[in-house]
Amino acid sequence: MTVRKFGGSSVNGSIQFKCLAKIIESFKEDKSIIVVSAMGKTTNKLVSFNENLSHNDLIFAEQDIKVIEENHLNLITELDLGKEAKSILSKHLSLLRTIKDSVAINLDITESQKDAVLAVGELLSSNLLALYFQKIGYKAVFLDSRYVVKSNSDFSNAEVDLPITFHNIKDSVQKLHTDNNIIIMGGFIASDSKNRTTTIGRGGSDYTAAIAANAIDAKLLEIWTDVDGIMTIDPKFSSDARRILHLSYDEAAELAYFGAKVLHPKTIGPAIKKNIPILVKNTFKPEIQGTLIANSENNPKMLKALSYWDNITVINVKSNRMLGAYGFLSKVFEIFKNYQTSVDLIATSEVSISLTIDNPKNLPHLLNELQEFSNVTVTSNQAIISAIGDGVKQTSGLASRYFGILDKINIQMVSIGASEVNISVVINSADLETSLKLLHNEFFKNVNEPDVFE
Ligand code: ADP
Ligand code: ASP
Ligand code: MG
Repeated sequence: MTVRKFGGSSVNGSIQFKCLAKIIESFKEDKSIIVVSAMGKTTNKLVSFNENLSHNDLIFAEQDIKVIEENHLNLITELDLGKEAKSILSKHLSLLRTIKDSVAINLDITESQKDAVLAVGELLSSNLLALYFQKIGYKAVFLDSRYVVKSNSDFSNAEVDLPITFHNIKDSVQKLHTDNNIIIMGGFIASDSKNRTTTIGRGGSDYTAAIAANAIDAKLLEIWTDVDGIMTIDPKFSSDARRILHLSYDEAAELAYFGAKVLHPKTIGPAIKKNIPILVKNTFKPEIQGTLIANSENNPKMLKALSYWDNITVINVKSNRMLGAYGFLSKVFEIFKNYQTSVDLIATSEVSISLTIDNPKNLPHLLNELQEFSNVTVTSNQAIISAIGDGVKQTSGLASRYFGILDKINIQMVSIGASEVNISVVINSADLETSLKLLHNEFFKNVNEPDVFE
């Protein structure tokens, strides 16, 4: 069985729904699962709606609803989906308006309501796609993901309870597949033990699809998006980006973690556990082969891609020697753990540690506690560039070439040790664009490796 996930731009209107139906046409008799994101930028509008309600800007909140209504109504009209589709739309819009009215009478919007709002995008797209497929004669059925994907109650970034979810999906899919071929679910959404709606983090539909693939022992997970596959650099950043034909799980995981938005970082975990290959493809150019992520014995050992992460903060912590070396490091990490701030890169010596964080929300608290036993400096407006590829650490001369290219750039921090497939540097955000261009030109632009890059 195959699980196919279609992202926001792949379901952003009637033309896209038709493209999608064409892709599925030749598989329509096979048993499969489709996971969809919300249409286009719907989730951003729902985020904006929540923010407007938090600030009591009810007029702006109503404008957000209007945009969502118009986009979905256009889809329904253009595909002639009829009464049932319209009533599904109005049911979800009334939920938004009910929440808006409760805020109007002076109640604050709760975290649980915010997630109920965010879920509207995926609930609509999955429901409407199922109706469209039924209309054109595919044996498709809608499955409300909240019935099967269970999570904790960390609203907006809930942790999926994998054992229960695997069991639920397997069970429901088995039942639904007796009379249907294609099961259509929304990504990104789940529910907690009290059956309240939760969401699993922005971009999380890829993760939902990987969970579904694991649950049913899929032979393949396809991620359909708006680019030709995984590229040597974000194609929105550079028109020189080249498609990578094949990546290992480790390479893909590292790329996703260090900023390549094309895959949610959690996607690889459930796939790797069952050795399920992941194929990243372009919905609008299905003839292009895409990028295959799987383990292979003879994966070429070389740099495959660059990713970047802007707007990060570097924290240097220097021990004032009140604690021994061992106590110093464990104390530092304990503080980051207590404030739930994840550290992305680390460089250490016996008495000092430099680390990067991407979420500075709890920075003042962190600093307060760190300063009790150390001298701390903070540098913001920094960026991480990661160069990813199997064997980057062992390939002789690669690191010196890499640093040679960046010899005019002020490098704040380097991390080569931690991962077999990643060399990362931290630089000033102002140098990001130049550095990426220099590196991309050197390692990818004119490289002739037909088995690795298109
Ligand atoms: P979807 O809505 O389909 O999930 P996303 O916007 O989340 O799509 O991810 C696709 C985007 O990821 C592309 O449009 C591209 O700009 C961005 N991206 C970043 N890095 C890369 C990369 N190395 N290869 C391909 N796309 C990348
Ligand atoms: N719609 C959600 C988002 O925009 C989830 C996703 O697209 O994967 O973040
Ligand atoms: Mg995405």
